[in-house]
Amino acid sequence: HSAKRAAGSFAWYSEAQEAARLDHLSLVSDLRVAVAQSQLQMWLQPKLSLRDGRPVGAEALVRWAHPERGMVSPADFVPFAEQTGYITLVTDWMLAEALRTLQTWQRSHPDLSIAVNLSTRDLQDPGFAPRLAQRVAASGVDPQRLRLEITESGLMDDPAKSVALLHALRAAGMPLSIDDFGTGYSSLAYLQKLPVSELKIDRSFVDGLDAAPATQRLVKAMIEMGHGLNLMVTAEGVETPAERDTLKALGCDVMQGYLGSRPLHGEKLDAWLLSST
Ligand code: C2E
Ligand code: MG
Ligand code: MG
Ligand code: MG
Repeated sequence: HSAKRAAGSFAWYSEAQEAARLDHLSLVSDLRVAVAQSQLQMWLQPKLSLRDGRPVGAEALVRWAHPERGMVSPADFVPFAEQTGYITLVTDWMLAEALRTLQTWQRSHPDLSIAVNLSTRDLQDPGFAPRLAQRVAASGVDPQRLRLEITESGLMDDPAKSVALLHALRAAGMPLSIDDFGTGYSSLAYLQKLPVSELKIDRSFVDGLDAAPATQRLVKAMIEMGHGLNLMVTAEGVETPAERDTLKALGCDVMQGYLGSRPLHGEKLDAWLLSST
């Protein structure tokens, strides 16, 4: 973060880029208000077993119903929220929402888990794991049903620290997943140290997989490595039956993607829950 580098990159900004940057900054300063005024929404995308097609749970994805901008996607505010640190507000809100939903599912859908995305900012806070453990205990929800996702590249920001924090979360009973796997340069030695139980193969490897023999060999190796480490392997971004069938043939365990369902909210989520059980 040297001033020199910041000044240098600033000089290369076009006016349009600078306008976009300021626009993002005003958006992010609205984020505190968004949390306070309930403008955030938790959407859920189903995860389906490739063995029998049954749902195993869902991933929680944040959406921002902005009063002027309409529905803002996480790609447009999560990176900036991470830079400013406001992302921890989003994480806390999503965790509360996930726990509340898991409480309401206690009777109707006791087998379904919800996965919440963590940011590296959360992993930098030594108080995060004990606070979350306390919140989960107070909610009465089985911690096994609250899964936590961390991206492979996020883990590699500070590998030693990440290992310690993941162990604290795991000790509190929450299962952990590595998100966007294949894009973050982690080593096998490092992976073996992580107390994770799921590997989520990044959707860039899934797109067009059925027609790409070289990628198939790569994905097969990832799946076998995951199984060798005793991990459940999930494929992200599955959009076509051909991609699904290829993943199944390669031994992948779980799929997530538009083919199964888009992320859902409100009545559509209720309808899916009714039909899936
Ligand atoms: P992710 O955790 O890898 O989530 C999967 C993303 O892929 C979601 O995008 C989802 O809508 C999208 N997706 C699912 N199936 C398909 C498909 O078949 N095809 C394609 N093309 N895309 C598919 P979304 O919701 O826009 O979220 C983008 C990213 O933003 C997430 O990637 C995650 O890294 C981040 N994010 C979302 N919610 C949160 C959150 O609450 N906290 C944090 N820290 N990050 C979040
Ligand atoms: Mg994720
Ligand atoms: Mg991902
Ligand atoms: Mg495609």
